[in-house]
Amino acid sequence: MGTEALQRLVEIANDPYGRLADLRKRKKVIGSTLADVPEELIYAAGLHPFLILGTNEPISHSAALLPDNSCSLARSNLELVVGYEGDFFDGFVFSQVCDTTQHLSDIWKRRFPDRYFENFLAPRQVDRPSARDWYAQECRRLRKELEKYAGREISDEDLWQSFRLYNENRSLLRTLYNIKQEVPALMTNRTFFDVVKATFFMDREEHNRLLQEVVDWAQGEKGRYEDQDGYFKLIVGGIVVEPPNIYDLIDEARGNIVGDNLCTASRYIYHDVDVDGDPAEALADRHLRKPHFSPINEDVKRIYTDLLDLYREKGAETIFYVHIKYCESQDYDLPDIKKRMREEGIPLLELETEYQTTHIAHAQMKTRLQAFCESVLGRT
Ligand code: SF4
Repeated sequence: MGTEALQRLVEIANDPYGRLADLRKRKKVIGSTLADVPEELIYAAGLHPFLILGTNEPISHSAALLPDNSCSLARSNLELVVGYEGDFFDGFVFSQVCDTTQHLSDIWKRRFPDRYFENFLAPRQVDRPSARDWYAQECRRLRKELEKYAGREISDEDLWQSFRLYNENRSLLRTLYNIKQEVPALMTNRTFFDVVKATFFMDREEHNRLLQEVVDWAQGEKGRYEDQDGYFKLIVGGIVVEPPNIYDLIDEARGNIVGDNLCTASRYIYHDVDVDGDPAEALADRHLRKPHFSPINEDVKRIYTDLLDLYREKGAETIFYVHIKYCESQDYDLPDIKKRMREEGIPLLELETEYQTTHIAHAQMKTRLQAFCESVLGRT
């Protein structure tokens, strides 16, 4: 199913280091971490922003560097660069969003003294009057540091071009997401979220070109897949969905993801950057418009009100909440989310996961998901 462009995007999402091995010959690669590093600045400096999203391969090195009860996103991010793909990166821009990422950033800096390294300190309480100015100041500081590293000035025109390119990318992804929600038989959840994932790794111009082909194909084909019978609509909450075969389980159960608040999906693809005024303030405005993210709060109630709004707006039947084991932030959110959904009578399935989920744990998750669909949603 699909086009060669779609196939290429899916392959890159699942094997970025193998498929993009020649990238370093063209540009210096700057790895950044979730969430909210303004990649547009890195791109405007003539560098290649690459989102570090961990590895599903076994952990061996990072176990000695981080406590056992640190989240697997942090452990697998560190493992990726220490044990597997360290040579791929020329430098790093790190976003500190929680205690784990704060410590991780210090460890990282000590491990890679020979590489470019920057912390990007986005405000965590975004309802404070100072938050917008703080974020804008961080963008200005990062712009200067990137200029020093890249050895060139980043002009405002460089930034506008970069903003336009990234806005186009987000717009195409939103269009494809709408089509996939409307016509779930056209494209699996796994395929769509793989297409989104590929954007974190690829040159944005190339991703836009391939994505435009995919959108054109989807628009042409969607009329042939009108039958939506047998699918149920769900919202996915959380930070990341890893390992990605969780999407396969949802596909097998014929779930149609019609909304999410994931850092690796809606929180990334919704809300564009304005292309006038002060560039740093335009980036700050986008940051403040983004949906809730567990460790970054505007209104604490948004840990559940964002999900409730999505559930109602999209006419979903259920919410699946993907809980990264030992994520300190999600650990605190979950009891309140569960309580509120119980009060509202909304079926919620918690899927606890780790990047290095074993076959046994995966089989257990599959059984739980199937049992939930049968007993709670009445699907046979
Ligand atoms: S927010 Fe959670 S998942 Fe993300 S790094 Fe911190 S503890 Fe890990």
